[in-house]
Amino acid sequence: MKILVVEDDLVTRKLLEKTIRGWGHEVIAAENGLIAWEIFQKEEIKFIIADWMMPEMDGITLCKNIRSLNKAGYIYFILLTGKDKKEEIVEGLEAGADDYVAKPFNLSELKVRVSAGERILDLEKELHKKNNELSRINVKLEEISMTDSLMEIGNRRAFYEAIKKSHHRACRYLQHYGLIMCDIDNFKNYNDTYGHIEGDTLLKKVADTLKSAIRLSDDIFRWGGEEIVVIVHEQNKPQTKLVAEKLRQAIESLKFEHKGCARGYLTISCGVAAFNENDKNNQWKDILDRADKALYIAKQSGRNRVCIPTDKVEPEPSS
Ligand SMILES: [Mg+2]
Repeated sequence: MKILVVEDDLVTRKLLEKTIRGWGHEVIAAENGLIAWEIFQKEEIKFIIADWMMPEMDGITLCKNIRSLNKAGYIYFILLTGKDKKEEIVEGLEAGADDYVAKPFNLSELKVRVSAGERILDLEKELHKKNNELSRINVKLEEISMTDSLMEIGNRRAFYEAIKKSHHRACRYLQHYGLIMCDIDNFKNYNDTYGHIEGDTLLKKVADTLKSAIRLSDDIFRWGGEEIVVIVHEQNKPQTKLVAEKLRQAIESLKFEHKGCARGYLTISCGVAAFNENDKNNQWKDILDRADKALYIAKQSGRNRVCIPTDKVEPEPSS
């Protein structure tokens, strides 16, 4: 460990230097508080042993200055003092010293106190490392808690967070945003035909396909079951409808086998709604309700299509 020894008395200073070096530490010596203060600001020092009474700057002032810097990481400070009255010792500790050793000092006592300080610094270092690890774990946990583990897109909680922000921005700055509710057509039949494990694989496939089809600036979440919701930022209804159509086509063009539906391949239906000026006094849930209603219309009109809330249900083509 690197230890800064501050002592104005030459003989004592040399003795301290030699002894502490003999204990296996690196020693930097200073002859008063002011010189020590300059060294401290330039060097990485965690351990200081300083005399109290010194010219230029005394040990108490040095200690106060160091504490007031609020440097990262702990600095261990031992005060050497000929003062041994209780109130003087209290003054030293109040200035921020961790420990004191009365002069004339006993070297083996000083050694014990240096070791104690070293242990505290080691613990502090360990704690700091653990805290960093904990922060990293917390970030990861936060990420996991916002992600759907199967589809690997945002979950319902993440959606709530995102939509609240989008809606707030839209109300405040009259920006647009669109919502697309996507639903896998005849998913129940898929599960019945191919089994639940294949069903899960399909959910992941759909999520992956939609994720790569949306713009980087948009956000995608699992709403629940086989439903996915996309927030299309800063786009109005016609623009959102175009995005939805792109998503629908991305799935259709996979031509992925799905014997449980009339077309024989995988398709999705989409309901689209968007924030408009009249929504200033509405909640985001109102826009979501409209997207949901539009999805219902798409489902009722034969699936594999994009609808908006004002669309009329078309009779399902007979096959
Ligand atoms: Mg002195």
